Amino acid sequence: MICHFCDTIHEAEPIPEGSRVSCVCCDATLYQNRPASLARVTSFSVTALLLMLVVHTAPFITMDAADLRTKLTLPGAAMTLIEEGSPIVGVGVALFTIVTPFVLSSGLVYVCAPLMFGKSAPGAMTVTRWMNRTEPWNMIEVFLLGVLVSLLKLGHLAELHFGIGFWAFTVLMFCMAAATAAIDRQELWDRLEVANEK
Ligand SMILES: [Zn+2]
Repeated sequence: MICHFCDTIHEAEPIPEGSRVSCVCCDATLYQNRPASLARVTSFSVTALLLMLVVHTAPFITMDAADLRTKLTLPGAAMTLIEEGSPIVGVGVALFTIVTPFVLSSGLVYVCAPLMFGKSAPGAMTVTRWMNRTEPWNMIEVFLLGVLVSLLKLGHLAELHFGIGFWAFTVLMFCMAAATAAIDRQELWDRLEVANEK
């Protein structure tokens, strides 16, 4: 493992829970083993998956304009974009706000829940590699920001109400952030290697 600050090379070894490893030269934190990390990852990811059910079925935003009430769900919005001539944006919305968060949180549950009992799920290392690849593409906070900006602009044209889906989406954003921040990448690899050696 290379220190990001001074480029010193270290040999990375599994460490006990609640401890951290610092660089021998500049004292920067290289990696850490946070207390109860697996339990926290699993619980936040399960919560995220349950919230996704609400986000994708409950109305996201209700718009009232000229006696017309439009209810919008998140998958509905992506479908409308695809049908109304913006297929790239629509597919992007579906991919980055529906598919990626689902792959990430279900992958975290699949890998971390068996690890709590010292077991490695079949193909857990491959799943972990895929999760690391998909993580940068989880863009729910970018989408939420985009929604808020466009709502500010739409505000004078129609009466807008946030639905349950919107609030669930906001909580989902914090859950996903908490789930991915709860475990160090190095720690996850170490735990997988230890479980595979058994
Ligand atoms: Zn260093």
